[in-house]
Amino acid sequence: MPDVTPDDLAAPQRPGALATAQAQLAGAVDALGYGEGMHAMLATPRREINVAVPLRRDDGRTELFHGFRVQHNVSRGPGKGGLRFHPAVDVDEVRALAMWMTWKCAVVELPYGGAKGGVAIDPRHYSRAELERVTRRYTSEIMPMIGPERDIMAPDVGTDAGTMAWVMDTYSVNRGYTIPGVVTGKPLEVGGSKGRATATSRGVVHTTEAALREARTGLDQVTVAIQGFGKVGANAAVIFADAGSRVVAVSDQYGAVHRDGGLDVTGLVEHVERTGSVVGFAEADPLDNEALLALEVDVLVPAAVEGVLNADNAPDVRARWVVEGANGPTTPDADTVLADRGVVVVPDILANAGGVVVSYFEWVQAQQAYWWTLAEIEHRLAERMQMAYDAVAQVARERDVSLRDAALVLSVQRVAEAHRTRGLYP
Ligand code: NAD
Repeated sequence: MPDVTPDDLAAPQRPGALATAQAQLAGAVDALGYGEGMHAMLATPRREINVAVPLRRDDGRTELFHGFRVQHNVSRGPGKGGLRFHPAVDVDEVRALAMWMTWKCAVVELPYGGAKGGVAIDPRHYSRAELERVTRRYTSEIMPMIGPERDIMAPDVGTDAGTMAWVMDTYSVNRGYTIPGVVTGKPLEVGGSKGRATATSRGVVHTTEAALREARTGLDQVTVAIQGFGKVGANAAVIFADAGSRVVAVSDQYGAVHRDGGLDVTGLVEHVERTGSVVGFAEADPLDNEALLALEVDVLVPAAVEGVLNADNAPDVRARWVVEGANGPTTPDADTVLADRGVVVVPDILANAGGVVVSYFEWVQAQQAYWWTLAEIEHRLAERMQMAYDAVAQVARERDVSLRDAALVLSVQRVAEAHRTRGLYP
């Protein structure tokens, strides 16, 4: 499957992402009883850079793009976060995404802060050579801010492993020696990690398993519906099926397919590789896209775009667990409806953190110039996800709050503790 898909690019941007992120922070600050000073520190990005990125087109014309890199917080370690190429990227969206990275890294106890970058460009309209020049110029403009000990990039919407190889090369050539630790999500040939491509999905399945265990059931006992059959959704379907779950429905932007007895996931992956969509898979019935969200299944995994579970359709959700493979698939209104109905939501900053966990492993390997086996990586990932789930679940029990509120409280507290322990300079 291609890394950059048209739906990535057509995806509506999360409305008011920064307002949502700030409201979530305010809720956690309130729950923790922090004062205004701490709130202001946590709400304000530590550093931001805004750069002009001129591009010489293949036909000789020049175009100019705006690029950003935001380090929301670096108190627990270097900034960590993706680089997004999307026409709707703006500094507020990047600020929100950087803040979420801070909380995500803190939930899974990585020694990182949160950062994010973006260039307001639609990569579908540019050649590979043009995208390489944009990437290299952007990297060069933000060079003073990044580095393996400062701020580590990774792919996001509109960028891929190849983009990371260009960032790494540009940074390395300018420093005079090879520095693979400046990015993660690189191709294996230049220091990428085994297991990175499936890490997010594996983390989704691990956290699902942890949530099921609390209810004294297991992966081989449940039915699953997955919205989105891309990097996260398709790999999650395969891993769920391997674990004995019955994956009864999946969708992509073109439609959904359903089979009560369980889909042949391997056959479906081959069908998607051949045709580009889940639609038309012979061994399943077609299903309305929206109907997938209301199916009578045990586990619903939104793994497509943001805001898909909202006040309108949340009352129809019949799953008992919603595990957020996507970032921000559930609106705050829907969260309230689902909580009232006893649906357990495993929140994005916990459920989809497997990707950044293996990014961390990739960075550790790069810093040591020593490479781990796939078995080692998957074992450590499973351990880390279980540890994070247990910590969040404990806070949820102690405070009698949802897993989302617990994950936010836990991560905000960890970051605030780092601030307090380090003290204020000067
Ligand atoms: P992707 O582009 O590979 O896949 C997205 C899938 O969603 C595609 O199958 C697409 O057809 C489908 N889709 C789009 N709109 C849809 C709709 N309205 N209904 C049903 N399906 C729809 O993207 P991805 O990397 O799998 O990312 C999916 C989500 O997971 C995003 O929110 C992303 O931010 C989040 N995420 C991804 C990673 C990662 O490692 N890839 C890590 C953390 C979070």
